[in-house]
Amino acid sequence: MTAAPFSWIRPERHGIHILPADAWVDPARPVPRALVTHGHADHARGGHGQTIATPATLAIMALRYQTRAGAVAAEYGEAVSIGAGVTATFLPAGHVLGSAQILLEHAGERVIITGDYKRAPDPTCAPFEVTPCDIFITEATFGLPVFAHPPIQGEIAKLLNYLDNEPESCVLVGAYALGKAQRVIAELRASGHHDTIWLHGAMEAMCRLYEEHGVALGDLRLVSDAPSKEALRGHIVIAPPSALHDRWSRRLPDPVTAMASGWMRVRARARQRGVELPLVISDHADWNELTATIAEVNPQETWITHGREEALLRWCQLNQRRARALALVGYEDEDD
Ligand SMILES: [Zn+2]
Ligand SMILES: [Zn+2]
Repeated sequence: MTAAPFSWIRPERHGIHILPADAWVDPARPVPRALVTHGHADHARGGHGQTIATPATLAIMALRYQTRAGAVAAEYGEAVSIGAGVTATFLPAGHVLGSAQILLEHAGERVIITGDYKRAPDPTCAPFEVTPCDIFITEATFGLPVFAHPPIQGEIAKLLNYLDNEPESCVLVGAYALGKAQRVIAELRASGHHDTIWLHGAMEAMCRLYEEHGVALGDLRLVSDAPSKEALRGHIVIAPPSALHDRWSRRLPDPVTAMASGWMRVRARARQRGVELPLVISDHADWNELTATIAEVNPQETWITHGREEALLRWCQLNQRRARALALVGYEDEDD
Protein backbone atom coordinates (compact mmCIF):
# COMPACT_ATOMS: atom_id res chain seq x y z
CA MET A 1 0.00 0.00 0.00
CA THR A 2 1.39 3.40 -0.87
CA ALA A 3 0.87 6.55 1.20
CA ALA A 4 -1.18 9.44 -0.13
CA PRO A 5 0.90 11.90 -2.19
CA PHE A 6 2.80 14.41 -0.05
CA SER A 7 1.39 13.03 3.21
CA TRP A 8 4.98 13.03 4.52
CA ILE A 9 5.10 16.80 4.73
CA ARG A 10 2.69 18.80 6.86
CA PRO A 11 2.42 22.53 7.46
CA GLU A 12 1.70 23.02 11.14
CA ARG A 13 1.23 26.23 13.09
CA HIS A 14 4.84 26.49 14.19
CA GLY A 15 6.63 25.27 11.08
CA ILE A 16 6.74 22.76 8.24
CA HIS A 17 6.91 19.24 9.68
CA ILE A 18 8.70 16.45 7.79
CA LEU A 19 6.93 13.50 9.40
CA PRO A 20 9.06 10.41 8.58
CA ALA A 21 12.29 12.12 9.67
CA ASP A 22 10.60 14.03 12.51
CA ALA A 23 12.36 17.20 11.41
CA TRP A 24 11.04 20.76 11.03
CA VAL A 25 11.85 23.61 8.67
CA ASP A 26 12.34 27.01 10.38
CA PRO A 27 10.40 25.95 13.47
CA ALA A 28 9.17 28.77 15.69
CA ARG A 29 9.85 26.63 18.79
CA PRO A 30 12.80 24.50 19.91
CA VAL A 31 12.60 21.02 18.37
CA PRO A 32 14.91 17.98 18.39
CA ARG A 33 15.81 18.50 14.73
CA ALA A 34 15.56 21.69 12.65
CA LEU A 35 16.42 22.60 9.07
CA VAL A 36 17.01 26.36 8.94
CA THR A 37 16.74 28.41 5.73
CA HIS A 38 18.64 31.50 6.94
CA GLY A 39 19.83 33.47 9.94
CA HIS A 40 17.02 36.02 10.46
CA ALA A 41 15.55 35.71 13.93
CA ASP A 42 12.06 34.70 12.79
CA HIS A 43 13.51 31.66 10.98
CA ALA A 44 16.60 30.76 12.98
CA ARG A 45 16.01 30.21 16.67
CA GLY A 46 18.30 28.81 19.31
CA GLY A 47 17.65 25.74 21.42
CA HIS A 48 17.18 23.00 18.82
CA GLY A 49 18.75 19.59 19.47
CA GLN A 50 20.21 19.47 15.96
CA THR A 51 20.36 22.30 13.41
CA ILE A 52 21.02 21.60 9.73
CA ALA A 53 21.88 24.74 7.72
CA THR A 54 24.47 26.17 5.35
CA PRO A 55 27.91 26.92 6.88
CA ALA A 56 27.28 30.69 6.71
CA THR A 57 23.87 30.37 8.41
CA LEU A 58 25.43 28.21 11.14
CA ALA A 59 28.13 30.87 11.64
CA ILE A 60 25.41 33.57 11.92
CA MET A 61 23.49 31.44 14.42
CA ALA A 62 26.64 30.79 16.46
CA LEU A 63 27.20 34.56 16.60
CA ARG A 64 23.62 35.25 17.69
CA TYR A 65 22.99 32.37 20.07
CA GLN A 66 26.55 31.60 21.24
CA THR A 67 26.01 27.91 20.59
CA ARG A 68 27.49 25.45 18.16
CA ALA A 69 26.03 22.29 19.69
CA GLY A 70 24.28 19.99 17.23
CA ALA A 71 25.24 21.96 14.13
CA VAL A 72 25.29 20.02 10.84
CA ALA A 73 26.61 21.92 7.81
CA ALA A 74 24.98 21.47 4.39
CA GLU A 75 26.83 23.05 1.46
CA TYR A 76 24.76 24.50 -1.38
CA GLY A 77 23.78 21.72 -3.78
CA GLU A 78 24.82 18.83 -1.53
CA ALA A 79 22.04 16.27 -0.91
CA VAL A 80 21.94 15.48 2.81
CA SER A 81 20.10 12.38 4.00
CA ILE A 82 17.98 13.23 7.03
CA GLY A 83 16.71 9.67 7.56
CA ALA A 84 13.63 7.63 6.69
CA GLY A 85 14.34 8.08 2.97
CA VAL A 86 14.18 11.87 3.02
CA THR A 87 16.96 14.00 1.52
CA ALA A 88 17.39 17.74 1.89
CA THR A 89 19.34 19.92 -0.54
CA PHE A 90 20.07 23.55 0.31
CA LEU A 91 19.92 25.85 -2.75
CA PRO A 92 20.77 29.58 -2.87
CA ALA A 93 17.80 31.89 -2.18
CA GLY A 94 19.45 35.27 -2.87
CA HIS A 95 18.08 36.77 0.37
CA VAL A 96 21.10 37.22 2.70
CA LEU A 97 24.49 35.55 3.18
CA GLY A 98 23.99 31.79 3.54
CA SER A 99 20.25 31.92 2.78
CA ALA A 100 18.79 28.80 1.22
CA GLN A 101 15.70 27.29 -0.28
CA ILE A 102 15.40 23.74 0.98
CA LEU A 103 14.56 21.02 -1.56
CA LEU A 104 13.08 17.96 0.17
CA GLU A 105 12.82 14.67 -1.71
CA HIS A 106 10.93 11.59 -0.58
CA ALA A 107 9.34 8.72 -2.49
CA GLY A 108 9.95 10.47 -5.82
CA GLU A 109 8.20 13.66 -4.67
CA ARG A 110 9.92 17.04 -4.56
CA VAL A 111 9.01 19.93 -2.30
CA ILE A 112 10.83 23.27 -2.10
CA ILE A 113 10.54 25.60 0.86
CA THR A 114 11.92 28.96 -0.22
CA GLY A 115 12.38 30.63 3.15
CA ASP A 116 12.76 34.33 2.29
CA TYR A 117 14.12 35.12 -1.18
CA LYS A 118 14.62 37.74 -3.84
CA ARG A 119 15.59 37.77 -7.50
CA ALA A 120 17.29 41.19 -7.70
CA PRO A 121 21.11 40.96 -7.85
CA ASP A 122 22.90 41.25 -4.50
CA PRO A 123 26.72 41.38 -4.28
CA THR A 124 26.65 39.93 -0.76
CA CYS A 125 25.05 36.54 -1.45
CA ALA A 126 24.61 33.79 -4.04
CA PRO A 127 21.69 34.32 -6.47
CA PHE A 128 18.37 32.41 -6.25
CA GLU A 129 18.40 29.19 -8.27
CA VAL A 130 15.23 28.23 -10.10
CA THR A 131 14.75 24.51 -9.43
CA PRO A 132 11.90 22.25 -10.58
CA CYS A 133 9.64 20.73 -7.93
CA ASP A 134 6.10 19.42 -7.35
CA ILE A 135 5.17 21.67 -4.44
CA PHE A 136 6.68 25.16 -4.14
CA ILE A 137 6.23 26.76 -0.73
CA THR A 138 6.83 30.46 -1.24
CA GLU A 139 7.04 33.43 1.09
CA ALA A 140 4.74 36.39 0.36
CA THR A 141 6.07 39.27 2.49
CA PHE A 142 5.47 41.78 -0.33
CA GLY A 143 2.66 39.83 -1.99
CA LEU A 144 0.62 42.79 -3.22
CA PRO A 145 0.83 44.39 -6.69
CA VAL A 146 1.58 47.78 -5.07
CA PHE A 147 4.98 46.46 -4.03
CA ALA A 148 7.44 47.02 -6.87
CA HIS A 149 10.96 47.50 -5.56
CA PRO A 150 12.96 49.95 -7.71
CA PRO A 151 16.53 49.03 -8.77
CA ILE A 152 18.83 49.52 -5.77
CA GLN A 153 21.28 51.73 -7.72
CA GLY A 154 18.70 54.53 -7.91
CA GLU A 155 18.10 54.42 -4.15
CA ILE A 156 21.86 54.45 -3.47
CA ALA A 157 22.21 57.44 -5.83
CA LYS A 158 19.49 59.24 -3.82
CA LEU A 159 21.54 58.73 -0.68
CA LEU A 160 24.81 59.90 -2.26
CA ASN A 161 23.15 62.95 -3.85
CA TYR A 162 21.78 63.99 -0.51
CA LEU A 163 25.25 63.76 1.01
CA ASP A 164 26.74 65.83 -1.84
CA ASN A 165 24.14 68.56 -1.39
CA GLU A 166 24.28 68.65 2.42
CA PRO A 167 27.96 68.19 3.29
CA GLU A 168 27.44 69.67 6.76
CA SER A 169 25.04 66.97 7.94
CA CYS A 170 25.42 63.25 8.30
CA VAL A 171 23.01 60.65 6.99
CA LEU A 172 21.88 58.07 9.52
CA VAL A 173 20.63 54.99 7.68
CA GLY A 174 18.48 52.48 9.52
CA ALA A 175 19.10 48.98 8.15
CA TYR A 176 18.56 45.43 9.41
CA ALA A 177 21.83 44.27 11.01
CA LEU A 178 21.86 40.99 9.05
CA GLY A 179 21.87 41.40 5.28
CA LYS A 180 20.44 44.85 4.59
CA ALA A 181 23.30 46.75 6.22
CA GLN A 182 25.98 44.82 4.35
CA ARG A 183 24.11 45.04 1.04
CA VAL A 184 23.75 48.82 1.37
CA ILE A 185 27.47 49.14 2.18
CA ALA A 186 28.51 46.87 -0.72
CA GLU A 187 26.28 48.83 -3.14
CA LEU A 188 27.70 52.15 -1.89
CA ARG A 189 31.20 50.79 -2.63
CA ALA A 190 30.08 49.59 -6.07
CA SER A 191 28.81 53.14 -6.75
CA GLY A 192 32.28 54.51 -6.05
CA HIS A 193 31.75 55.70 -2.46
CA HIS A 194 34.98 54.78 -0.64
CA ASP A 195 34.81 57.09 2.38
CA THR A 196 34.72 55.69 5.88
CA ILE A 197 31.26 54.41 6.76
CA TRP A 198 30.49 54.68 10.46
CA LEU A 199 28.65 51.92 12.29
CA HIS A 200 26.51 51.54 15.37
CA GLY A 201 28.16 48.95 17.67
CA ALA A 202 25.37 46.41 17.00
CA MET A 203 26.48 46.18 13.34
CA GLU A 204 30.12 45.37 13.89
CA ALA A 205 30.16 41.61 14.47
CA MET A 206 27.87 40.83 11.52
CA CYS A 207 29.88 43.03 9.15
CA ARG A 208 33.04 41.23 10.25
CA LEU A 209 31.35 37.86 9.66
CA TYR A 210 30.43 38.93 6.11
CA GLU A 211 34.02 39.97 5.47
CA GLU A 212 35.26 36.59 6.77
CA HIS A 213 32.94 35.03 4.18
CA GLY A 214 34.54 37.01 1.36
CA VAL A 215 32.26 40.06 1.15
CA ALA A 216 34.51 43.17 1.06
CA LEU A 217 32.93 46.17 2.78
CA GLY A 218 35.76 48.74 2.72
CA ASP A 219 36.66 51.14 5.54
CA LEU A 220 34.21 50.72 8.42
CA ARG A 221 34.58 52.33 11.84
CA LEU A 222 32.52 52.50 14.99
CA VAL A 223 30.77 55.76 15.88
CA SER A 224 31.97 55.18 19.45
CA ASP A 225 35.57 55.39 18.14
CA ALA A 226 35.07 58.71 16.28
CA PRO A 227 37.59 61.33 17.48
CA SER A 228 34.82 63.98 17.57
CA LYS A 229 31.25 64.64 16.55
CA GLU A 230 32.64 66.85 13.75
CA ALA A 231 34.45 63.88 12.19
CA LEU A 232 31.05 62.44 11.22
CA ARG A 233 29.90 65.43 9.16
CA GLY A 234 29.45 64.57 5.51
CA HIS A 235 29.48 60.84 6.29
CA ILE A 236 27.09 57.91 6.27
CA VAL A 237 26.26 56.22 9.58
CA ILE A 238 24.48 52.86 9.64
CA ALA A 239 22.45 51.69 12.63
CA PRO A 240 19.71 49.17 13.37
CA PRO A 241 16.23 50.67 12.79
CA SER A 242 15.55 50.51 16.54
CA ALA A 243 18.44 52.94 17.21
CA LEU A 244 17.26 55.66 14.78
CA HIS A 245 15.56 57.75 17.43
CA ASP A 246 17.13 56.61 20.66
CA ARG A 247 19.62 58.48 22.83
CA TRP A 248 22.50 57.00 20.88
CA SER A 249 21.75 59.16 17.82
CA ARG A 250 22.32 62.38 19.83
CA ARG A 251 26.04 61.96 19.37
CA LEU A 252 25.63 62.56 15.62
CA PRO A 253 25.99 66.05 14.05
CA ASP A 254 22.67 67.21 12.49
CA PRO A 255 21.70 63.76 11.26
CA VAL A 256 19.06 63.28 8.58
CA THR A 257 17.23 60.01 9.12
CA ALA A 258 17.10 57.50 6.27
CA MET A 259 15.83 53.95 6.28
CA ALA A 260 16.48 51.09 3.84
CA SER A 261 13.39 48.90 3.73
CA GLY A 262 10.83 47.58 1.27
CA TRP A 263 8.17 49.11 3.53
CA MET A 264 9.46 52.59 2.67
CA ARG A 265 7.27 52.24 -0.43
CA VAL A 266 4.42 53.04 1.96
CA ARG A 267 4.69 56.76 2.75
CA ALA A 268 2.65 56.46 5.94
CA ARG A 269 5.16 53.96 7.32
CA ALA A 270 8.08 56.26 6.60
CA ARG A 271 6.26 59.15 8.29
CA GLN A 272 5.30 57.00 11.25
CA ARG A 273 8.92 56.11 11.83
CA GLY A 274 10.16 59.67 11.41
CA VAL A 275 12.12 58.82 8.27
CA GLU A 276 13.08 61.88 6.20
CA LEU A 277 14.91 60.00 3.44
CA PRO A 278 13.07 56.74 2.65
CA LEU A 279 15.10 54.23 0.62
CA VAL A 280 13.04 51.45 -0.95
CA ILE A 281 15.54 48.61 -0.59
CA SER A 282 14.26 45.14 0.19
CA ASP A 283 15.79 41.69 0.49
CA HIS A 284 12.44 40.10 -0.34
CA ALA A 285 10.88 39.41 -3.72
CA ASP A 286 8.38 42.05 -4.79
CA TRP A 287 5.06 41.22 -6.48
CA ASN A 288 6.59 40.79 -9.93
CA GLU A 289 9.42 38.62 -8.64
CA LEU A 290 6.97 36.42 -6.70
CA THR A 291 4.67 35.84 -9.67
CA ALA A 292 7.54 35.44 -12.18
CA THR A 293 9.23 32.92 -9.88
CA ILE A 294 6.08 30.80 -9.51
CA ALA A 295 5.70 30.82 -13.30
CA GLU A 296 9.36 29.84 -13.85
CA VAL A 297 9.46 27.08 -11.23
CA ASN A 298 6.08 25.94 -12.58
CA PRO A 299 5.16 23.54 -9.74
CA GLN A 300 2.04 21.34 -9.63
CA GLU A 301 1.02 23.20 -6.53
CA THR A 302 2.03 26.43 -4.76
CA TRP A 303 1.74 26.86 -1.02
CA ILE A 304 1.87 30.45 0.18
CA THR A 305 3.00 31.63 3.58
CA HIS A 306 4.63 34.37 5.56
CA GLY A 307 2.97 37.60 4.53
CA ARG A 308 0.11 38.73 2.30
CA GLU A 309 -1.12 35.34 1.12
CA GLU A 310 -4.55 36.33 -0.28
CA ALA A 311 -3.50 38.36 -3.34
CA LEU A 312 -0.95 35.78 -4.44
CA LEU A 313 -3.47 32.99 -3.91
CA ARG A 314 -5.94 34.89 -6.12
CA TRP A 315 -3.24 35.41 -8.77
CA CYS A 316 -2.55 31.66 -8.82
CA GLN A 317 -6.26 30.90 -9.20
CA LEU A 318 -6.64 33.42 -12.04
CA ASN A 319 -3.69 31.75 -13.76
CA GLN A 320 -5.08 28.22 -13.36
CA ARG A 321 -2.48 27.25 -10.78
CA ARG A 322 -3.31 25.06 -7.83
CA ALA A 323 -2.48 26.92 -4.65
CA ARG A 324 -3.28 27.17 -0.96
CA ALA A 325 -2.44 29.61 1.81
CA LEU A 326 -0.78 28.23 4.93
CA ALA A 327 -1.42 29.52 8.42
CA LEU A 328 2.06 29.45 9.95
CA VAL A 329 2.65 31.82 12.84
CA GLY A 330 5.63 33.73 14.13
CA TYR A 331 7.22 35.03 10.93
CA GLU A 332 7.54 38.81 10.84
CA ASP A 333 9.79 41.01 8.74
CA GLU A 334 8.78 44.43 9.97
CA ASP A 335 12.08 46.12 9.13
CA ASP A 336 13.02 44.28 5.99
ZN1 LIG B 1 14.68 36.82 6.20
ZN1 LIG C 1 11.34 36.01 7.10
